[in-house]
Amino acid sequence: MPREPHPRWHIADVLDRSDLGALLDELAQPAAFRAGPGRRWHCPAPDHDDHRASVTMHRDRHGHERWRCWSGDHRGDAVDLVMLTTGRDRGEAVDWLASRAGMIPDRPVPPIRPRQPSHAPAVVPSPLVEQYVTACQRILQTSTGQPVREWLAARGFDSDTIRENRLGADPGRTVMRRARGLPYGTSPAAVLPALDPAGHLTYVQARYLNPDIAGRKYDNPSASIAPHPRLAHPLVRGERGEMLLVCEGLPDALIAAQAGYRTAALLGAQTPDDAVAARLANLADAHQIGIAIVCDPDPAGRHATSVLADLLDRAGVEPITVTPPDGLDLNAWALTDPNWALDLDCHLTTSTVDVAPHPYADVAAGVEP
Ligand SMILES: [Zn+2]
Repeated sequence: MPREPHPRWHIADVLDRSDLGALLDELAQPAAFRAGPGRRWHCPAPDHDDHRASVTMHRDRHGHERWRCWSGDHRGDAVDLVMLTTGRDRGEAVDWLASRAGMIPDRPVPPIRPRQPSHAPAVVPSPLVEQYVTACQRILQTSTGQPVREWLAARGFDSDTIRENRLGADPGRTVMRRARGLPYGTSPAAVLPALDPAGHLTYVQARYLNPDIAGRKYDNPSASIAPHPRLAHPLVRGERGEMLLVCEGLPDALIAAQAGYRTAALLGAQTPDDAVAARLANLADAHQIGIAIVCDPDPAGRHATSVLADLLDRAGVEPITVTPPDGLDLNAWALTDPNWALDLDCHLTTSTVDVAPHPYADVAAGVEP
């Protein structure tokens, strides 16, 4: 009697009951000294001598775990992993996973194992950060918070954006005492919390209203109470476009999120590195969207953009670069042009069309001064 290729199981049922992390531990080589959400494995592809441990895991939009090798074009789900490492064909691999998951033909399928949160915060700040953010949110609503409310309004942030992203007012250390390690509070500042993709507070920045008086633009917590997350993800309103917009700094990212774009803010002056690129590529992959880098109109911005574009390219994502018109940053563009988001959508859509040889060339040409 001929063997049926995919006899008994829905692949989704099998994947829901498979633990990809445990399978990778068993069938691929785990990287030394890496555990928890950021763990990595050496690539399971037999023809890839992956001494750097390039494989990470994520969940796709159907909730299924997937693995991806960032230094070769290797990726897949648990079934692909079993096929690749054991030489089974697809039907056999599904059968093998089903029996491992305790699935028996003609019996009810066993319950799905409890799912671990896919975006467990990688960095957990001290409770002092939460207290500081909460206090500053409260102060924003008082008369003391008036100058910060005006500053936020002048940036174009509406009340929903302010509330959802927990923006606040730091009146300065003469008015509000604070624990060592929190932003110093030389003078009044707008408080811009950094959230991870799941909306957990990971960090906070104080943006001085008057950098001349404060002697600097931003003040950050010390590393001992909040490790620098490098990236922040403002809560997005609705769903606009098919792109993750990478912006320089929280004000640009907040204004883009308010317009409905999924965004990532690059925090700090440090040039993006491999780890930042991998996190961005992973996030875009998980949401099945592309990446557009919004470039600041200065030499530092152009440098950061080209470095990040190269890193993303190596991670298997070809990003689009958007340069706002007239030497403006994104926040300024949004303030001067009521149709900025429509313009941007237009550029993002036309540039996703796969036209040879340089589909993105006219985007840059079209919007650059
Ligand atoms: Zn590989």
